[in-house]
Amino acid sequence: MSHSDHSLSIAAPHSGTLDGPQKATLALAALGVLALLVSLPMDTIPHAGLWLTGALLAIVVGVLGYAWRSYAHHPAGIKNNGVWHSSLTSRGAMAWVVGVLLTGFYVVLYFYPQYLGLAGEGKANTGIIALFNPLSRLLSGNPASQWFVYGTLYTVAILSMGTKFILKYRHNKYEVVRTLSVMFFQLGFAFLIPELLARLSLPYNDFKNMWPLNYSFFDDWNVKGLIDAGGFGLFMLLFGVAMIFLISPILTYFYGKRWYCSWVCGCGGLAETAGDPFRQLSDKSEKAWKVERWVIHSVLVFAVVMTAALIYSYLGGDSAKGFWLTRGMLLGIIVLVLGGVGAVLLIRPGMVKELNNKVRYGAIVILAAVIGFTAYAYITGGSDIFFVESYPLRKTYGFAIGAIFSGVVGVGFYPLMGSRVWCRFGCPMAAVLGMQQRFFSRFRITTNGGQCISCGNCSTYCEMGIDVRSYAQRGENIVRSSCVGCGICAAVCPRGVLKLENGPSPLNPLSGSARGLVSGRVSSDPIAIGKTGATLR
Ligand code: SF4
Ligand code: SF4
Repeated sequence: MSHSDHSLSIAAPHSGTLDGPQKATLALAALGVLALLVSLPMDTIPHAGLWLTGALLAIVVGVLGYAWRSYAHHPAGIKNNGVWHSSLTSRGAMAWVVGVLLTGFYVVLYFYPQYLGLAGEGKANTGIIALFNPLSRLLSGNPASQWFVYGTLYTVAILSMGTKFILKYRHNKYEVVRTLSVMFFQLGFAFLIPELLARLSLPYNDFKNMWPLNYSFFDDWNVKGLIDAGGFGLFMLLFGVAMIFLISPILTYFYGKRWYCSWVCGCGGLAETAGDPFRQLSDKSEKAWKVERWVIHSVLVFAVVMTAALIYSYLGGDSAKGFWLTRGMLLGIIVLVLGGVGAVLLIRPGMVKELNNKVRYGAIVILAAVIGFTAYAYITGGSDIFFVESYPLRKTYGFAIGAIFSGVVGVGFYPLMGSRVWCRFGCPMAAVLGMQQRFFSRFRITTNGGQCISCGNCSTYCEMGIDVRSYAQRGENIVRSSCVGCGICAAVCPRGVLKLENGPSPLNPLSGSARGLVSGRVSSDPIAIGKTGATLR
């Protein structure tokens, strides 16, 4: 109670400083991190298994103890007390220190793993990678790599910070179940199953990591490895293709992109759990929204072009590899899909009425150019589609998007730009699911505008930078391609204005109406604000 002396606030009478048990538990977690770092310069690690267990336990117990002390002894309800006063969560000095350390870690992980102790061919690992050898041998039978170290720490972060998140949002069933889901998929699908597959001498495979997020899925070495692995490998290949073309579109139609971005994906899982203290840092400006649309769709085009070029090169001549898929068929599929999209843009502009004409015609020109390049490749029989060599293109993508964007910037910049920088600006998977969510999904957030008191909590805590309040004030549904359906806007709303829904809509085109998907709990657009005044519809 002594803290209340330092605050005049009625709503949050805590000063925001840490009490004794909180400091002790944080110190324990820091000790665990230190125990990992101490191993860095060491050639051999004595009692590595014991050391690693102790260090990881200290981190987990420290984080859980801190979370318990911070949330369990207070009444259930959202507690974001002091986020704008803490140096770490308001882009203060502490945020910069953590940002630089995280960024540095990713640079070393991707480009200088030898400093973590990764051994060259035929040599034994040293440093922190050797520290993880016992756990790696226990799971897969192989020595650890930098990716095993990263995967373990990533999983520990999601599990421990996920438990903290559950304690914080324990009054909200949607948040609890969603977080249990990402913890389950990270532990089972991203961490344990791939290691056990390696133990069974099967190809490493994260079943939930699909193309285009998994940009190496269609790489020749991956396809060949899966085919060579026999029946189960073929199943993995077919499952991956089914995920892209069947399972994902169906689930996105019924539930929106949230089924993946907020319930399954590892990147989203880390953002939602470890990134939760930073969600308020997302940029809500219109300029950021414009940049977001350009950048994320450019990354998607890059991913598609790179993959098509790679498959085209790999297929060789029409019957050279003996696959059922030939170069001619691949080109035909490209022309068919792009032609279909172009036809919608040209003939049925009503279906994409949110796109202004400049964007619509720009997209048509790009599609026509790609179809032209494809036709040229087919007629001339050239070895490269789109006039680019596929392998250097694949290398550039892996470096710029796979390493720099998703890792270094995506996580390293959490304390400076919010927790979903990668999901919002760089993830091609989010772009694909977003387009479908925008034009072909039941998911929407309905608003009861009459109840809104314009407090702005929803906009503040939207990690995707959506100005939720502006929709709520107008009583308008939120159907945004970037919305990951985290539900935090609804959770922090003190008036129950927002509701995530995916029931059938009376205005849904699939149920017979041509008016689009934006039906509302109250009204899709009840107030029109013009130059001369407001009109109530
Ligand atoms: S609009 Fe709401 S549900 Fe969608 S991303 Fe923002 S906070 Fe999450
Ligand atoms: S949190 Fe709720 S009441 Fe506050 S602005 Fe958003 S919709 Fe309105």
